[in-house]
Amino acid sequence: MFRAVRRWLFPVGLVIVAAVLVEVGHSDSASPPVVEAQPAATRKAPASEQEAAEQLLEKTLQRKKPVPTKWVRHNPQERTLFATMWMRHSAEYRAICLQTYNAAIDKVREGVRKLRFSQGRLTGTKPPAVVMDLDETVLDNTAFQARLVVMKQAFDDETFEKWLRDHQHEVRLIPGTANFIKEVEELDVTIVFISNRPDSHRQETIETLGKLGINIDGVEARLLLRTQDRDKEARRAQVREQYQILAILGDNLHDFSTEFSAKGLEGDPKALEKRLELVDKNDERWGEEWFVFPNPIYGDWANLVDWGESDTLLQP
Ligand SMILES: [Mg+2]
Repeated sequence: MFRAVRRWLFPVGLVIVAAVLVEVGHSDSASPPVVEAQPAATRKAPASEQEAAEQLLEKTLQRKKPVPTKWVRHNPQERTLFATMWMRHSAEYRAICLQTYNAAIDKVREGVRKLRFSQGRLTGTKPPAVVMDLDETVLDNTAFQARLVVMKQAFDDETFEKWLRDHQHEVRLIPGTANFIKEVEELDVTIVFISNRPDSHRQETIETLGKLGINIDGVEARLLLRTQDRDKEARRAQVREQYQILAILGDNLHDFSTEFSAKGLEGDPKALEKRLELVDKNDERWGEEWFVFPNPIYGDWANLVDWGESDTLLQP
């Protein structure tokens, strides 16, 4: 009998001791019980619409896929990535180029008609000409920009010139260029190229134009490359001595007039605003005698931006 009681007492005792230990464990704890973080419940309610927007943005960014590792390393061309992709792959860029060329050919035709109307014949007056910039107006060099982005390499003149020598085959025509030049020449209007490519690249440039189907007859006299100054005014004046300019086409506003040139505005804290004002001042010339192509990758505008202050510039 006693043995049977002992056999039952031992497990029952164990159960009682375990129960007491569990109770002590709960009640003896000096620190508060650990509660799992509840970010949604503890996040404070936005005090304003601005704060709500910021919280939403933060949430959205957290959901975003991680940035591919290849872009994490500093890339001096990172800020040109979007612009390069847009120029190389967007249908919108192509449409804008065609739109610009269509507007320009209409005005050239109109200019020729006016010349004939006022003069009876073109003889006795200066022959008409159209002035065109080359890079990003006639020639598409975005393959070079794409290379820089992929190679994480900063732009410099030496690298560009090496690419011009070794990678001519990568140059394309800006959409609409071939038709435009053909139609202008059919109107007996001379095309003159004024470009800041160094004059030492004259031969490669002529070869490139020829390979891309541009008329290069007599181009030596119609190709005004950079010999010293980047300013194009002297070269425009040279063209005006011989021709009546009906239209100028370019992607950088210094292709049209020196007043837009970054050179005269460097260091001026109001440089960007001043350029905008100059555009407004010349309101009647855009689409009449001056035709601009988009270039979000580079240009005088980019040289005037204080990139270290972009946060300030982006303030709404
Ligand atoms: Mg250009």
